[in-house]
Amino acid sequence: MTHGGDTIFGKIIRKEIPAQIVYETERVLAFRDINPVAPTHILVIPKKPIPSVAAATAEDKELLGELLLEAAEVARREGLEEGGYRVVTNIGYNGGQTVFHLHLHIIGGRHCQWPPG
Ligand code: AMP
Repeated sequence: MTHGGDTIFGKIIRKEIPAQIVYETERVLAFRDINPVAPTHILVIPKKPIPSVAAATAEDKELLGELLLEAAEVARREGLEEGGYRVVTNIGYNGGQTVFHLHLHIIGGRHCQWPPG
């Protein structure tokens, strides 16, 4: 299976550019955000190049569930479970999305405000 797609995250999946990878499975990759907004800031992505949740289809149902479960696993391994953390995915312009490869942000190590800015 070809993995990646035509974004910077595709290059990270194919190991064409470096990233601080913290977790990897056949279908999912997690790496540290290059511009962290919290003491722990990790991106969890499917290797399949889905642009965003809005572009996912019924075919991706299992993969989306897996992505969320893997995010919880990464957070557990990072020691975030006890204190809690935030999982968020941005969609399109108003969502603040800048990389058009679906990703979950895991934000932990500090208290997050609600509503977000
Ligand atoms: P979003 O605004 O939800 O699309 O988030 C994209 C995230 O990707 C931002 O938090 C960026 O800091 C992060 N990012 C962009 N390029 C890289 C990279 N090469 N390695 C790690 N994180 C990156």
